[in-house]
Amino acid sequence: MIPAVKFQKVSRHFGTVRAVDAVDLEIEPGEFFAMLGPSGSGKTTCLRLIAGFEQPTAGHIEIFGETAEGVPPYRRNVNTVFQDYALFPHLNVADNVAYGQMIRGVGKAERLRDAEAALEMVKLPGYGARKPGQLSGGQRQRVALARALVNKPKVLLLDEPLGALDLKLREQMQEELKVLQKALGITFVFVTHDQGEALSMADRIAVFNEGRIMQTGTPEDIYRRPKTRFVADFVGSSNVLPPDITRRLGGPAEWASLRPEDIHLGSDTGHEAQVSATSFLGSATRVTLDVAGEKINVLLPSGTPVPQQGESVRFAWSDDALHLMGTEA
Ligand code: ATP
Repeated sequence: MIPAVKFQKVSRHFGTVRAVDAVDLEIEPGEFFAMLGPSGSGKTTCLRLIAGFEQPTAGHIEIFGETAEGVPPYRRNVNTVFQDYALFPHLNVADNVAYGQMIRGVGKAERLRDAEAALEMVKLPGYGARKPGQLSGGQRQRVALARALVNKPKVLLLDEPLGALDLKLREQMQEELKVLQKALGITFVFVTHDQGEALSMADRIAVFNEGRIMQTGTPEDIYRRPKTRFVADFVGSSNVLPPDITRRLGGPAEWASLRPEDIHLGSDTGHEAQVSATSFLGSATRVTLDVAGEKINVLLPSGTPVPQQGESVRFAWSDDALHLMGTEA
């Protein structure tokens, strides 16, 4: 199958800053692909390289099997939804959605019909006459999405599109975006620094750090089988154990990741530890253990008995929960 997007050793350096550094990447057609990483890790630059707003300083990009070199953004069959939505405040919603078509000289009747169809897709039918200022944040976000979808792109790029929304609305839009993406079959490439968002929405995730991809895989892969300390640490809140602690707990002398929810307390066997802190999180309680000077977090589901700070407890974990990551620092 021809990938929707293919990067071969793509770099984008700005002077001495290696924003994107020798990245290899293949995004499949119809995939919901998330680029996840901390601020400054190169996600947005990657997106801009796909869109054509940025040119690689080295390497090669293909979009659906065709070289992107020398192809301007408007001829790439790719559209972008920006974090700030970039709506024109003086134009009504329909004209905002139809703006690109107007520029291309599409007739008014056709433009308005397409705009209304796109607004229906994002559940805003009949909102065409409103101005952006008369919409809520979530509705503005939908208009920005409709404006991108009206061009029927093969690839839709989304740069932290839910970043400006409050938590409830963000969760609702996460669900809706996922449903919409599957219904339309368009390849979505989604940039976020929110690991929960990437895990819940994406078919596959690329984890970025310092301009490089640390790991690409399904959410399950990334969460259960992190390849590096960075990935284990950044995705979820894993206990990253140094080799001497892993060995003390019965494994080989390697770095290891142990998820807090995979540890249980109160068994007769297991290892002894001191409780150094507890904190109630609502749906669970986090208990911090001190094991030979190393802090290990345990997540107890609500309803389980919570030990006191200072108490001595025993802890154990399910068989495959200790995930080894090699000896390299
Ligand atoms: P964020 O989540 O904060 O948007 P990001 O992962 O998207 O971060 P990028 O915006 O791709 O990161 O930036 C990667 C690095 O490249 C940063 O160090 C940034 O300062 C630098 N950079 C990006 N664009 C430029 C530019 N036009 N000129 C100089 N440096 C740049």
